[in-house]
Amino acid sequence: MSKTITSTDPATGKLLWSGETGDAAAEVAAARAALPGWAGHSTAYRFEALRRFANVVRKKEGEFAELIARETGKPLWETKTEVAAVINKVEISTDAYAERTPKRTIEAAMGNKVSVRHKPHGVLAVLGPYNFPAHLPNGHIVPALIAGNAIVFKPSEKTPATGEFLVRCYRDAGIPEGAIRLLVGGPDEGKALAADPGIDGLLFTGSARAGQALHRQFADTPQKILALELGGNNPLVIWHPKDVEAAATIAVQSAFLSAGQRCTAARRLIVEDGKEGPLLDAIAKMIDRIIVDEPFADPQPFMGPVIDNDAAHHLQEQWMGLMMKGGKPIRRLDRPHDDRPYLTPALIDVTDAKERPDEEIFGPVLQVIRVGSFEAAIEEANATRFGLAASLVGGTPEQFEHFWGHVRAGVINWNKPTNGAPSSAPFGGVGLSGNHRPSAFYAADYCAYPVTSVQANTARGAIAQGLRDPKVVEG
Ligand code: NAD
Repeated sequence: MSKTITSTDPATGKLLWSGETGDAAAEVAAARAALPGWAGHSTAYRFEALRRFANVVRKKEGEFAELIARETGKPLWETKTEVAAVINKVEISTDAYAERTPKRTIEAAMGNKVSVRHKPHGVLAVLGPYNFPAHLPNGHIVPALIAGNAIVFKPSEKTPATGEFLVRCYRDAGIPEGAIRLLVGGPDEGKALAADPGIDGLLFTGSARAGQALHRQFADTPQKILALELGGNNPLVIWHPKDVEAAATIAVQSAFLSAGQRCTAARRLIVEDGKEGPLLDAIAKMIDRIIVDEPFADPQPFMGPVIDNDAAHHLQEQWMGLMMKGGKPIRRLDRPHDDRPYLTPALIDVTDAKERPDEEIFGPVLQVIRVGSFEAAIEEANATRFGLAASLVGGTPEQFEHFWGHVRAGVINWNKPTNGAPSSAPFGGVGLSGNHRPSAFYAADYCAYPVTSVQANTARGAIAQGLRDPKVVEG
C-alpha cells in the first residue's frame, strides 16, 4: 500500500514536494529487465552516456542548486558546490574505473596470457542520506552505472525532490529508464529494497544505526555486495597553534559547515589543558559572527537551518543531555524560532562531564575536551567506536607523523579542517564508520568484481608428474 510522502522547505515550513511511495519489487524487476542491455554496451558507450549526464546537469546547474537549497536549507553558495561535485564525479569516476578496474593482461610462463577483466554485480540498490542528497548517492550511482550495473535509487524521505531531479538528469542524458529507477520512500521502502531477492548488492550512505541494521539484514547473503558509508564522532586536535586565529577558523569550518550536518564534521575539539583560553575565545568570537539564515538570504549565511523540526528537537535534547552530565556551555545551542529548525552554533566544555556518550551529534555542536599531553590527546581522539575523520592543527611534522600513525580514522589531516575530503581520493572510515568499502575514488572497487582468465591460443595438455609409464600400462 502506497503512502504519501511530503518534503517541506526547512527555512519556511512550506510544502515543497509531495508524492507516493513506490514499490521496491516493481523497481527491482524493471532494473533487472534493463540490465543485460546496459551491461552489454561497451564501457566507452557508458562513459559517453555519463558525460552527457554531466552536460545535462551543467545546463541545469542553477535550478538544481536552488532546489537542493530549498529542500535541505543549506545556503545557496554551498549547494552550488554540491552541484559542481555532481558534475565532476563523472570524470573522476571515469579515471577511477580506468585506474582501479581496468582490463589487465599479464604475461605468464610458457607463453600463457593471464587477463583480468571486471564484471558488474547486476542490480544495485542505492540508499541516500539527506545532507548531500545529490552528491552522495550520485557518488555511488555514477561509478556503478559506468561499471554496467542497473540501479534502484531510494533518496532520503527528507529529500525526494532532489532525488527525483537527479534521476531526471540521468534520463535526459539518454540513460535507459530501466538502468536507473527511482524508489520514493522512507526506511520501510529502504528495508523492502534491501530485502528484495532481485538485488545483487546495496550501496549505502547514512547513519551507523541504519548501517548496522542493513549489515544484520545481509548476514545471510554474504554473496551480495554491501558498501556502508556511515557517520563519525570526529576529533580535531589543536596543539600549540602558531596562528590562533587560523586554528579557530579551521575549528569553525570543521564543526559548523552545513550546520554540522556532515559526516566528517568535527564533534570533539581536543586542546591542551591550561592553554586553551585564547583559542576558545577566538572560536567563540567567530561563532558570534556566524550568520544563520535562510539559504537565499543576502548576505549569504554561513549556515542555514538543520533539516527539519524533528532533527532540531533531537539536537536540543542531545544538548540538554550534555549539560545535565556536567558540560559547561561556552556558546549555547539556541533555537530562535520555536517553529523552525534554525539552531545557533554551540560550544561546550565536556572535560568534567560525568560521562561523554560516544554518539554522533549531527548538528552544530562542538564539544571541548582538555587534556594534559599530546599522548593524552591521541588517546582521547581514539576514544570512539567510529573512525571517519581526524585532524591535527598545529604541532610539529614529527607530531603529525605520530598522530597519523596512532589515530584510527580513514581521513587524517594536518592543519586542515576535518571535512572537505577530495573526491579524487578514496573516502571511508574504520570502526563504526563503515565496512572497509571506501567510496569516492575507490567506489570503482565495489561496483565491479574481477574475473581472471588464463588463456592460450591452442589447447596443449601435459601432465608431468603422477602418471604411470604408458608402456608399463600397455605391457
Ligand atoms: P539515515 O541512516 O537516517 O538514512 C539514510 C537512508 O537510509 C535514507 O534513505 C533512509 O530512508 C534509509 N534508511 C533508514 N533506515 C533504514 C533501514 N533500517 N533500512 C533501510 N533503509 C533505511 O541517515 P540520514 O539521517 O539521512 O543521514 C545522516 C547520516 O548519514 C549521518 O549519520 C551521517 O554521518 C551519515 N553520512 C555518512 C557519509 C559518509 O560518506 N560516510 C556521508 C554523509 C552522511
